[in-house]
Amino acid sequence: MNTTAPRAYKRIATEEGWATPEMMQMYVKILETHAINDPGFYNLWGFFGKSQAPRAVDLFNRIQDMGERRLGDMDATGIDMQLLMLTSPGVQVFDAATATALAISTNDQLAATIRKHPTRFAGLAAVAPQAPQGAARELERAVTKLGLKGAVINSHTQGEYLDDEKFWDIFAAAEALDVPIYIHPNTPSPQMIEPFLSRCLDAAIYGFAAETGLHVMRLIVSGVFDRFPKLRIVLGHLGEGLPFWLYRMDFMHAGIVRANRSEGVKPLKKKPSDYLRDNFYYTTSGMAWEPSVTFVQQQMGHDRVMYAMDYPYQYVAEEVTAMDNLPLSEEHKKMFFQTNAERIFKL
Ligand code: CA
Repeated sequence: MNTTAPRAYKRIATEEGWATPEMMQMYVKILETHAINDPGFYNLWGFFGKSQAPRAVDLFNRIQDMGERRLGDMDATGIDMQLLMLTSPGVQVFDAATATALAISTNDQLAATIRKHPTRFAGLAAVAPQAPQGAARELERAVTKLGLKGAVINSHTQGEYLDDEKFWDIFAAAEALDVPIYIHPNTPSPQMIEPFLSRCLDAAIYGFAAETGLHVMRLIVSGVFDRFPKLRIVLGHLGEGLPFWLYRMDFMHAGIVRANRSEGVKPLKKKPSDYLRDNFYYTTSGMAWEPSVTFVQQQMGHDRVMYAMDYPYQYVAEEVTAMDNLPLSEEHKKMFFQTNAERIFKL
């Protein structure tokens, strides 16, 4: 791949993982003590945290490197800038006090890393939804004091979803600050994970999308976006499959509302698909396949789809080439790789 030839656009990768050694050690401790009820956590991090498999060791090292190795990997694949987010499930597996403190300290560390390499890194804040008001305060501090560009929330928090109004201070803060929330996958919640586990379908192969897609549908039908009409959400993995469902979700939602089938489904001001078109942005993380990218660009608009690598989990040079070769005009290609990210995250 020719990564040094002049390009008419910067490549900004918008869903790039990082972690602190401190958090990795806390994950290892959970694995040893079995201190939480989250089967998905044990299946996924049991592999990364303890396995000596080369891929696990490699990921465990790469995700914690915030210097030469990461920058070298970016140079080797022609990535100009990474938008960093604390890897899933972030602080969301800990008790509220631990998680709140850890979010603050990791955000401070992330800001320090960005100050060292301001042209190569930008970042989203970790927050602890377990303490919603604290999470809202930390989001405000991270944006106004640290220069971070929004927040990442890794789907469910100990089996709870953000459509519960107790979490809505976080949405109010994001809307007031005009920063996006990246709803990043997590393994399926304890309530839904069992049939995924025995076939190892709980993580990126499918479970992440099932979990995160469900979470987003809960947000939409609960009326979050009528209450917070300017709230902006970013989804990875081309929208976790939801863009493929636009027609059917509208048809069926109208029927459920008409039949008054559930207390949990109220009439909305718009169709479910309208919120996915108006309040959401999409990144390609891990989905470097032209038919899917083209479909989402056509349905959601060229101004809403951004490039992401999903480093270090999907560090694949050929995928960058595949995205360079998308059948796009120069204008749309620059939007895809660069200017959408600059606008949406205010880089
Ligand atoms: Ca990711």
